[in-house]
Amino acid sequence: MLEKVIIANRGEIALRILRACRETGIKTVAVHSTADDNLKHVLLADETVCIGPPASADSYLNMPAIISAAEVTDSVAIHPGYGFLSENADFAERVESSGFIFIGPPAHCIRLMGDKVSAIKAMQDAGVPTVPGSDGPLGDDAEENMRIAHAIGYPIIIKASAGGGGRGMRVVHSEASLASAITVTAAEARAAFGNDTLYMEKFLEYPRHIEVQVLADNHGNVIHLGERDCSMQRRHQKVIEEAPAPGITVEQREAIGAVCVQACKDMGYRSAGTFEFLYQDDEFYFIEMNTRLQVEHPVTEMITGVDIVKEQLRIAAGEELGFTQDEIRIQGHAIECRINAEDPKTFMPSPGLIQLWHAPGGPGIRVESHIYSGYRVPPYYDSMIGKVIAHGNDRPTAIARMRSALSEMVIEGIKTNIPLHQEIFQHAAFQAGGTDIHYLEKRLGI
Ligand code: ADP
Repeated sequence: MLEKVIIANRGEIALRILRACRETGIKTVAVHSTADDNLKHVLLADETVCIGPPASADSYLNMPAIISAAEVTDSVAIHPGYGFLSENADFAERVESSGFIFIGPPAHCIRLMGDKVSAIKAMQDAGVPTVPGSDGPLGDDAEENMRIAHAIGYPIIIKASAGGGGRGMRVVHSEASLASAITVTAAEARAAFGNDTLYMEKFLEYPRHIEVQVLADNHGNVIHLGERDCSMQRRHQKVIEEAPAPGITVEQREAIGAVCVQACKDMGYRSAGTFEFLYQDDEFYFIEMNTRLQVEHPVTEMITGVDIVKEQLRIAAGEELGFTQDEIRIQGHAIECRINAEDPKTFMPSPGLIQLWHAPGGPGIRVESHIYSGYRVPPYYDSMIGKVIAHGNDRPTAIARMRSALSEMVIEGIKTNIPLHQEIFQHAAFQAGGTDIHYLEKRLGI
Protein backbone atom coordinates (compact mmCIF):
# COMPACT_ATOMS: atom_id res chain seq x y z
CA MET A 1 0.00 0.00 0.00
CA LEU A 2 0.96 3.66 -0.23
CA GLU A 3 2.95 4.81 2.77
CA LYS A 4 2.11 8.47 3.03
CA VAL A 5 -0.38 10.59 1.09
CA ILE A 6 -0.73 14.34 0.61
CA ILE A 7 -4.33 15.49 0.81
CA ALA A 8 -4.37 18.44 -1.58
CA ASN A 9 -7.81 19.75 -0.75
CA ARG A 10 -9.91 21.10 2.11
CA GLY A 11 -13.26 20.71 3.83
CA GLU A 12 -15.39 17.61 3.85
CA ILE A 13 -13.58 15.84 1.01
CA ALA A 14 -10.20 16.24 2.68
CA LEU A 15 -11.66 14.62 5.79
CA ARG A 16 -13.20 11.84 3.68
CA ILE A 17 -9.79 11.09 2.13
CA LEU A 18 -8.09 11.23 5.53
CA ARG A 19 -10.52 8.67 6.90
CA ALA A 20 -9.96 6.31 3.95
CA CYS A 21 -6.20 6.62 4.47
CA ARG A 22 -6.45 5.93 8.19
CA GLU A 23 -8.62 2.90 7.60
CA THR A 24 -6.00 1.51 5.24
CA GLY A 25 -3.03 2.35 7.45
CA ILE A 26 -1.73 5.16 5.24
CA LYS A 27 -0.09 8.18 6.87
CA THR A 28 -1.56 11.55 5.94
CA VAL A 29 -0.22 15.01 5.27
CA ALA A 30 -2.74 17.87 5.24
CA VAL A 31 -1.63 20.82 3.14
CA HIS A 32 -3.65 23.91 3.94
CA SER A 33 -3.91 27.67 3.58
CA THR A 34 -3.38 30.07 6.47
CA ALA A 35 -7.19 30.39 6.72
CA ASP A 36 -7.59 26.66 7.29
CA ASP A 37 -5.35 25.67 10.20
CA ASN A 38 -8.47 24.82 12.22
CA LEU A 39 -9.98 22.43 9.65
CA LYS A 40 -10.94 19.10 11.13
CA HIS A 41 -8.71 17.00 8.88
CA VAL A 42 -5.78 19.36 9.53
CA LEU A 43 -6.22 18.71 13.25
CA LEU A 44 -6.37 14.94 12.63
CA ALA A 45 -3.60 14.52 10.04
CA ASP A 46 -0.25 12.91 10.91
CA GLU A 47 1.56 15.94 9.48
CA THR A 48 0.53 19.35 8.22
CA VAL A 49 2.16 21.83 5.86
CA CYS A 50 0.91 25.38 5.35
CA ILE A 51 1.12 26.08 1.62
CA GLY A 52 0.09 29.70 1.39
CA PRO A 53 -2.35 32.52 2.11
CA PRO A 54 -6.16 32.14 1.95
CA ALA A 55 -6.65 32.84 -1.77
CA SER A 56 -6.93 29.49 -3.58
CA ALA A 57 -4.61 30.69 -6.33
CA ASP A 58 -1.83 31.02 -3.74
CA SER A 59 -2.56 27.84 -1.79
CA TYR A 60 -4.80 25.03 -3.04
CA LEU A 61 -3.91 25.86 -6.66
CA ASN A 62 -0.23 26.44 -5.91
CA MET A 63 1.43 23.50 -7.66
CA PRO A 64 5.05 24.11 -6.60
CA ALA A 65 4.01 24.53 -2.94
CA ILE A 66 2.06 21.27 -2.96
CA ILE A 67 4.81 19.33 -4.69
CA SER A 68 7.47 20.66 -2.34
CA ALA A 69 5.23 19.69 0.59
CA ALA A 70 5.31 16.15 -0.81
CA GLU A 71 9.10 16.34 -1.02
CA VAL A 72 9.73 17.63 2.49
CA THR A 73 7.34 15.12 4.07
CA ASP A 74 8.59 12.11 2.06
CA SER A 75 5.09 11.43 0.79
CA VAL A 76 4.57 9.00 -2.07
CA ALA A 77 1.28 10.16 -3.54
CA ILE A 78 -1.07 13.14 -3.86
CA HIS A 79 -4.86 12.95 -3.70
CA PRO A 80 -6.40 16.05 -5.29
CA GLY A 81 -10.01 15.49 -4.14
CA TYR A 82 -12.49 17.40 -6.34
CA GLY A 83 -12.31 20.96 -7.64
CA PHE A 84 -8.96 22.82 -7.26
CA LEU A 85 -6.26 20.86 -9.15
CA SER A 86 -8.18 17.60 -9.52
CA GLU A 87 -8.82 18.00 -13.24
CA ASN A 88 -5.63 19.83 -14.11
CA ALA A 89 -3.62 17.66 -16.51
CA ASP A 90 -0.50 19.81 -16.06
CA PHE A 91 -0.63 19.21 -12.32
CA ALA A 92 -1.03 15.44 -12.76
CA GLU A 93 1.99 15.51 -15.07
CA ARG A 94 4.10 17.59 -12.71
CA VAL A 95 3.23 15.34 -9.79
CA GLU A 96 4.33 12.25 -11.71
CA SER A 97 7.45 13.85 -13.20
CA SER A 98 8.47 14.89 -9.67
CA GLY A 99 8.39 11.22 -8.71
CA PHE A 100 5.03 11.05 -6.92
CA ILE A 101 1.85 9.15 -7.69
CA PHE A 102 -1.13 11.21 -8.79
CA ILE A 103 -4.24 9.59 -7.30
CA GLY A 104 -6.36 9.93 -10.38
CA PRO A 105 -6.31 9.15 -14.08
CA PRO A 106 -3.33 9.56 -16.44
CA ALA A 107 -2.75 13.16 -17.57
CA HIS A 108 -3.67 12.33 -21.17
CA CYS A 109 -7.18 11.24 -20.09
CA ILE A 110 -7.68 14.41 -18.02
CA ARG A 111 -6.58 16.48 -21.00
CA LEU A 112 -8.80 14.62 -23.45
CA MET A 113 -11.89 14.92 -21.24
CA GLY A 114 -11.09 18.44 -20.02
CA ASP A 115 -11.58 19.73 -23.50
CA LYS A 116 -15.26 19.05 -24.10
CA VAL A 117 -15.01 19.18 -27.88
CA SER A 118 -12.33 16.49 -27.88
CA ALA A 119 -14.22 14.54 -25.19
CA ILE A 120 -17.37 14.45 -27.29
CA LYS A 121 -15.36 13.35 -30.32
CA ALA A 122 -13.70 10.55 -28.32
CA MET A 123 -17.08 9.43 -27.01
CA GLN A 124 -18.62 9.36 -30.46
CA ASP A 125 -15.70 7.22 -31.62
CA ALA A 126 -16.31 4.86 -28.69
CA GLY A 127 -19.99 4.54 -29.55
CA VAL A 128 -21.29 6.67 -26.67
CA PRO A 129 -24.44 8.64 -27.63
CA THR A 130 -23.97 12.45 -27.58
CA VAL A 131 -26.26 15.50 -27.85
CA PRO A 132 -26.94 16.62 -31.45
CA GLY A 133 -24.63 19.58 -31.94
CA SER A 134 -21.95 21.36 -33.90
CA ASP A 135 -19.67 18.30 -33.99
CA GLY A 136 -16.61 20.40 -33.32
CA PRO A 137 -15.62 23.94 -32.36
CA LEU A 138 -17.44 26.99 -33.69
CA GLY A 139 -15.53 29.24 -36.06
CA ASP A 140 -15.72 33.01 -36.62
CA ASP A 141 -18.08 32.83 -39.58
CA ALA A 142 -21.41 34.21 -38.29
CA GLU A 143 -23.37 32.90 -41.27
CA GLU A 144 -21.97 29.42 -40.82
CA ASN A 145 -22.83 29.48 -37.10
CA MET A 146 -26.39 30.48 -37.94
CA ARG A 147 -26.59 27.64 -40.39
CA ILE A 148 -25.35 25.16 -37.75
CA ALA A 149 -27.83 26.46 -35.16
CA HIS A 150 -30.66 26.31 -37.64
CA ALA A 151 -29.77 22.73 -38.58
CA ILE A 152 -29.72 21.70 -34.89
CA GLY A 153 -32.97 23.59 -34.23
CA TYR A 154 -33.58 26.22 -31.55
CA PRO A 155 -33.27 26.42 -28.62
CA ILE A 156 -29.57 25.66 -28.64
CA ILE A 157 -26.94 25.98 -25.92
CA ILE A 158 -23.52 27.51 -26.51
CA LYS A 159 -20.87 25.92 -24.33
CA ALA A 160 -17.20 26.59 -23.63
CA SER A 161 -15.02 23.64 -24.54
CA ALA A 162 -12.92 24.30 -21.42
CA GLY A 163 -15.99 25.02 -19.26
CA GLY A 164 -16.73 23.57 -15.86
CA GLY A 165 -18.70 24.12 -12.69
CA GLY A 166 -21.76 25.18 -14.63
CA ARG A 167 -20.02 28.25 -16.06
CA GLY A 168 -19.46 29.16 -19.69
CA MET A 169 -22.88 28.21 -21.03
CA ARG A 170 -25.65 30.23 -22.65
CA VAL A 171 -29.01 29.16 -24.01
CA VAL A 172 -30.14 30.80 -27.25
CA HIS A 173 -33.79 30.71 -28.25
CA SER A 174 -33.67 32.38 -31.64
CA GLU A 175 -31.38 33.50 -34.41
CA ALA A 176 -31.71 37.16 -33.38
CA SER A 177 -29.61 36.66 -30.25
CA LEU A 178 -27.16 34.05 -31.59
CA ALA A 179 -24.27 36.29 -32.64
CA SER A 180 -24.23 38.36 -29.44
CA ALA A 181 -24.56 35.21 -27.30
CA ILE A 182 -21.52 33.72 -29.01
CA THR A 183 -19.49 36.89 -28.45
CA VAL A 184 -20.42 37.17 -24.77
CA THR A 185 -19.85 33.47 -24.01
CA ALA A 186 -16.48 33.55 -25.77
CA ALA A 187 -15.40 36.57 -23.70
CA GLU A 188 -16.55 34.87 -20.50
CA ALA A 189 -14.79 31.66 -21.41
CA ARG A 190 -11.57 33.52 -22.20
CA ALA A 191 -11.68 35.28 -18.82
CA ALA A 192 -12.67 32.21 -16.79
CA PHE A 193 -10.76 29.43 -18.53
CA GLY A 194 -8.17 31.17 -20.68
CA ASN A 195 -9.69 29.45 -23.71
CA ASP A 196 -12.55 30.76 -25.82
CA THR A 197 -13.26 27.67 -27.91
CA LEU A 198 -17.03 27.20 -28.07
CA TYR A 199 -19.37 24.56 -29.38
CA MET A 200 -23.08 24.25 -29.79
CA GLU A 201 -25.58 21.66 -28.65
CA LYS A 202 -29.30 21.18 -28.91
CA PHE A 203 -30.76 22.56 -25.68
CA LEU A 204 -32.80 19.70 -24.27
CA GLU A 205 -36.02 21.03 -22.79
CA TYR A 206 -36.82 18.50 -20.08
CA PRO A 207 -33.83 16.17 -19.56
CA ARG A 208 -32.74 14.50 -16.37
CA HIS A 209 -29.07 14.49 -15.38
CA ILE A 210 -27.98 10.88 -15.01
CA GLU A 211 -24.35 9.91 -14.55
CA VAL A 212 -22.44 6.64 -14.42
CA GLN A 213 -19.65 5.94 -11.92
CA VAL A 214 -16.68 3.92 -13.16
CA LEU A 215 -13.54 2.50 -11.58
CA ALA A 216 -10.51 1.34 -13.54
CA ASP A 217 -7.20 -0.14 -12.42
CA ASN A 218 -3.77 -0.38 -14.00
CA HIS A 219 -4.33 -3.97 -15.07
CA GLY A 220 -7.06 -3.40 -17.63
CA ASN A 221 -9.95 -4.05 -15.25
CA VAL A 222 -12.82 -1.60 -15.54
CA ILE A 223 -16.19 -1.75 -13.77
CA HIS A 224 -19.19 0.53 -13.45
CA LEU A 225 -21.12 1.08 -10.24
CA GLY A 226 -24.43 1.99 -11.79
CA GLU A 227 -25.93 5.42 -12.13
CA ARG A 228 -26.91 8.45 -10.06
CA ASP A 229 -29.64 10.98 -10.73
CA CYS A 230 -28.47 14.55 -10.10
CA SER A 231 -31.31 16.43 -11.75
CA MET A 232 -32.14 18.59 -8.74
CA GLN A 233 -29.97 21.57 -9.73
CA ARG A 234 -29.82 25.30 -9.37
CA ARG A 235 -27.67 27.28 -11.81
CA HIS A 236 -26.26 23.99 -13.12
CA GLN A 237 -25.08 23.13 -9.61
CA LYS A 238 -26.33 19.93 -8.03
CA VAL A 239 -28.37 20.28 -4.85
CA ILE A 240 -29.66 16.73 -4.24
CA GLU A 241 -28.35 13.48 -5.74
CA GLU A 242 -29.64 9.95 -5.56
CA ALA A 243 -28.84 6.43 -6.63
CA PRO A 244 -30.14 4.48 -8.38
CA ALA A 245 -31.94 6.86 -10.75
CA PRO A 246 -35.72 6.44 -10.41
CA GLY A 247 -37.22 4.48 -13.28
CA ILE A 248 -33.99 3.29 -14.88
CA THR A 249 -34.27 -0.42 -15.61
CA VAL A 250 -31.61 -3.04 -14.98
CA GLU A 251 -31.27 -3.44 -18.76
CA GLN A 252 -30.75 0.29 -19.30
CA ARG A 253 -28.18 0.37 -16.48
CA GLU A 254 -26.24 -2.54 -17.90
CA ALA A 255 -26.31 -1.14 -21.42
CA ILE A 256 -25.12 2.38 -20.56
CA GLY A 257 -22.67 1.01 -17.99
CA ALA A 258 -21.12 -1.29 -20.60
CA VAL A 259 -20.68 1.64 -23.03
CA CYS A 260 -18.86 3.65 -20.32
CA VAL A 261 -16.62 0.70 -19.44
CA GLN A 262 -15.70 0.32 -23.11
CA ALA A 263 -14.93 4.04 -23.44
CA CYS A 264 -12.58 3.75 -20.42
CA LYS A 265 -10.80 0.80 -22.00
CA ASP A 266 -10.44 2.68 -25.29
CA MET A 267 -8.73 5.67 -23.68
CA GLY A 268 -6.67 3.76 -21.10
CA TYR A 269 -8.52 5.27 -18.16
CA ARG A 270 -7.49 4.66 -14.54
CA SER A 271 -8.99 5.49 -11.11
CA ALA A 272 -12.51 6.79 -10.44
CA GLY A 273 -14.46 8.69 -13.08
CA THR A 274 -17.97 9.74 -13.99
CA PHE A 275 -19.72 9.89 -17.34
CA GLU A 276 -22.42 12.55 -17.24
CA PHE A 277 -25.48 12.22 -19.44
CA LEU A 278 -28.66 14.10 -20.10
CA TYR A 279 -31.55 11.65 -20.29
CA GLN A 280 -34.72 12.49 -22.15
CA ASP A 281 -37.40 10.31 -23.77
CA ASP A 282 -35.56 7.14 -22.73
CA GLU A 283 -32.33 8.18 -24.47
CA PHE A 284 -28.94 8.96 -22.92
CA TYR A 285 -26.85 11.83 -24.32
CA PHE A 286 -23.25 12.20 -23.12
CA ILE A 287 -22.35 15.75 -22.01
CA GLU A 288 -19.02 15.37 -20.23
CA MET A 289 -16.77 13.14 -18.18
CA ASN A 290 -15.47 14.12 -14.76
CA THR A 291 -12.02 12.60 -14.35
CA ARG A 292 -12.03 12.69 -10.55
CA LEU A 293 -13.87 11.78 -7.38
CA GLN A 294 -17.24 13.55 -7.22
CA VAL A 295 -19.09 15.26 -4.40
CA GLU A 296 -21.96 12.80 -4.77
CA HIS A 297 -19.88 9.59 -4.71
CA PRO A 298 -21.34 8.49 -1.33
CA VAL A 299 -24.78 7.65 -2.73
CA THR A 300 -23.13 5.06 -4.98
CA GLU A 301 -21.07 3.76 -2.06
CA MET A 302 -24.20 3.30 0.02
CA ILE A 303 -26.00 1.18 -2.58
CA THR A 304 -23.00 -0.87 -3.73
CA GLY A 305 -20.94 -1.20 -0.55
CA VAL A 306 -17.83 -0.18 -2.52
CA ASP A 307 -15.60 2.42 -0.85
CA ILE A 308 -14.64 4.46 -3.90
CA VAL A 309 -11.88 6.42 -2.15
CA LYS A 310 -10.27 3.26 -0.81
CA GLU A 311 -10.42 1.79 -4.31
CA GLN A 312 -8.67 4.91 -5.62
CA LEU A 313 -5.90 4.36 -3.07
CA ARG A 314 -5.57 0.68 -3.99
CA ILE A 315 -5.48 1.49 -7.69
CA ALA A 316 -2.82 4.16 -7.14
CA ALA A 317 -0.74 1.59 -5.27
CA GLY A 318 -0.87 -0.63 -8.36
CA GLU A 319 -3.27 -3.17 -6.92
CA GLU A 320 -6.11 -4.71 -8.86
CA LEU A 321 -9.70 -3.58 -8.33
CA GLY A 322 -11.22 -5.21 -5.27
CA PHE A 323 -14.39 -6.15 -7.20
CA THR A 324 -15.44 -7.65 -10.50
CA GLN A 325 -18.54 -6.42 -12.32
CA ASP A 326 -20.41 -9.58 -11.32
CA GLU A 327 -19.81 -8.85 -7.66
CA ILE A 328 -21.49 -5.43 -7.82
CA ARG A 329 -25.00 -5.63 -6.37
CA ILE A 330 -27.28 -2.64 -5.97
CA GLN A 331 -28.90 -2.64 -2.57
CA GLY A 332 -31.67 -0.20 -1.75
CA HIS A 333 -31.69 3.52 -2.43
CA ALA A 334 -29.55 6.45 -1.25
CA ILE A 335 -30.11 10.22 -1.37
CA GLU A 336 -27.64 13.00 -0.63
CA CYS A 337 -28.36 16.61 0.37
CA ARG A 338 -25.56 19.13 -0.06
CA ILE A 339 -25.51 21.43 2.95
CA ASN A 340 -24.33 24.92 2.04
CA ALA A 341 -23.55 27.91 4.23
CA GLU A 342 -25.93 30.19 2.39
CA ASP A 343 -29.22 31.98 2.70
CA PRO A 344 -31.95 29.47 1.72
CA LYS A 345 -33.91 32.13 -0.15
CA THR A 346 -31.33 34.47 -1.69
CA PHE A 347 -28.51 31.89 -1.94
CA MET A 348 -26.02 34.49 -0.72
CA PRO A 349 -23.05 32.82 1.03
CA SER A 350 -23.23 32.92 4.82
CA PRO A 351 -19.77 32.36 6.28
CA GLY A 352 -19.07 32.84 9.97
CA LEU A 353 -18.87 31.18 13.35
CA ILE A 354 -20.81 27.96 13.90
CA GLN A 355 -22.01 28.34 17.45
CA LEU A 356 -23.66 24.96 17.66
CA TRP A 357 -23.54 21.89 15.43
CA HIS A 358 -25.63 18.89 16.17
CA ALA A 359 -25.28 16.08 13.63
CA PRO A 360 -28.24 13.86 12.74
CA GLY A 361 -28.04 10.09 13.17
CA GLY A 362 -30.01 6.88 13.16
CA PRO A 363 -30.19 3.91 10.80
CA GLY A 364 -28.95 4.59 7.28
CA ILE A 365 -27.77 8.16 7.98
CA ARG A 366 -24.25 9.16 6.97
CA VAL A 367 -22.82 12.62 7.56
CA GLU A 368 -19.79 13.86 5.63
CA SER A 369 -18.78 17.17 7.15
CA HIS A 370 -15.76 18.90 8.60
CA ILE A 371 -17.68 21.38 10.73
CA TYR A 372 -17.84 21.42 14.51
CA SER A 373 -19.21 23.75 17.17
CA GLY A 374 -16.83 26.69 17.35
CA TYR A 375 -15.61 26.29 13.75
CA ARG A 376 -15.60 29.44 11.68
CA VAL A 377 -16.58 28.96 8.01
CA PRO A 378 -14.12 31.12 6.07
CA PRO A 379 -15.43 33.38 3.30
CA TYR A 380 -12.78 32.37 0.74
CA TYR A 381 -14.02 29.03 -0.55
CA ASP A 382 -17.02 27.10 -1.79
CA SER A 383 -20.02 27.39 0.52
CA MET A 384 -20.61 23.65 0.85
CA ILE A 385 -20.03 22.66 4.47
CA GLY A 386 -21.14 19.07 4.36
CA LYS A 387 -23.41 16.39 3.01
CA VAL A 388 -26.06 14.23 4.58
CA ILE A 389 -26.70 10.87 2.97
CA ALA A 390 -29.72 8.69 3.75
CA HIS A 391 -29.84 5.04 2.72
CA GLY A 392 -32.81 2.69 2.95
CA ASN A 393 -34.14 -0.50 1.43
CA ASP A 394 -36.21 1.54 -0.97
CA ARG A 395 -36.64 5.17 -2.05
CA PRO A 396 -39.54 6.02 0.31
CA THR A 397 -37.47 4.78 3.26
CA ALA A 398 -34.45 6.84 2.17
CA ILE A 399 -36.71 9.90 1.84
CA ALA A 400 -38.29 9.34 5.26
CA ARG A 401 -34.87 8.95 6.85
CA MET A 402 -33.58 12.10 5.18
CA ARG A 403 -36.59 14.11 6.33
CA SER A 404 -36.03 12.94 9.86
CA ALA A 405 -32.30 13.73 9.64
CA LEU A 406 -32.92 17.23 8.27
CA SER A 407 -35.33 18.02 11.07
CA GLU A 408 -32.88 16.74 13.68
CA MET A 409 -29.85 18.64 12.45
CA VAL A 410 -28.87 21.87 14.17
CA ILE A 411 -26.46 24.44 12.76
CA GLU A 412 -26.53 27.70 14.70
CA GLY A 413 -24.65 30.90 13.94
CA ILE A 414 -24.78 30.82 10.14
CA LYS A 415 -27.55 30.40 7.60
CA THR A 416 -27.79 27.14 5.69
CA ASN A 417 -29.89 25.71 2.87
CA ILE A 418 -31.46 23.08 5.19
CA PRO A 419 -34.89 24.81 4.90
CA LEU A 420 -34.65 24.54 1.10
CA HIS A 421 -34.01 20.80 1.35
CA GLN A 422 -36.91 20.41 3.76
CA GLU A 423 -39.16 22.18 1.31
CA ILE A 424 -38.06 20.08 -1.67
CA PHE A 425 -38.63 16.86 0.26
CA GLN A 426 -42.29 17.91 0.68
CA HIS A 427 -42.85 18.32 -3.05
CA ALA A 428 -45.06 15.64 -4.55
CA ALA A 429 -42.99 15.74 -7.77
CA PHE A 430 -39.76 15.00 -5.89
CA GLN A 431 -41.45 12.24 -3.94
CA ALA A 432 -42.67 10.70 -7.19
CA GLY A 433 -39.09 10.84 -8.56
CA GLY A 434 -37.74 11.58 -12.02
CA THR A 435 -38.01 15.39 -12.06
CA ASP A 436 -35.99 17.11 -14.79
CA ILE A 437 -33.03 19.49 -14.50
CA HIS A 438 -35.20 22.59 -14.85
CA TYR A 439 -37.64 21.56 -12.13
CA LEU A 440 -36.02 23.29 -9.17
CA GLU A 441 -35.49 26.66 -10.83
CA LYS A 442 -39.05 26.62 -12.13
CA ARG A 443 -40.38 25.77 -8.69
CA LEU A 444 -38.25 28.51 -7.11
CA GLY A 445 -39.48 30.92 -9.75
CA ILE A 446 -36.00 31.91 -10.91
P1 ADP B 1 -20.11 21.71 -16.40
O1 ADP B 1 -18.82 21.10 -16.80
O2 ADP B 1 -20.02 23.18 -16.24
O3 ADP B 1 -20.76 21.00 -15.24
P2 ADP B 1 -21.95 20.31 -18.22
O4 ADP B 1 -21.70 20.13 -19.65
O5 ADP B 1 -21.79 19.10 -17.35
O6 ADP B 1 -21.08 21.54 -17.67
O7 ADP B 1 -23.41 20.87 -18.00
C1 ADP B 1 -23.86 21.25 -16.73
C2 ADP B 1 -25.37 21.34 -16.70
O8 ADP B 1 -25.84 22.25 -17.70
C3 ADP B 1 -26.09 20.04 -16.98
O9 ADP B 1 -26.19 19.22 -15.83
C4 ADP B 1 -27.43 20.56 -17.45
O10 ADP B 1 -28.17 21.01 -16.33
C5 ADP B 1 -27.07 21.78 -18.26
N1 ADP B 1 -26.87 21.45 -19.69
C6 ADP B 1 -25.69 21.20 -20.30
N2 ADP B 1 -25.88 20.89 -21.62
C7 ADP B 1 -27.19 20.96 -21.85
C8 ADP B 1 -28.04 20.74 -23.00
N3 ADP B 1 -27.53 20.39 -24.19
N4 ADP B 1 -29.38 20.87 -22.86
C9 ADP B 1 -29.92 21.22 -21.66
N5 ADP B 1 -29.18 21.46 -20.55
C10 ADP B 1 -27.85 21.33 -20.61
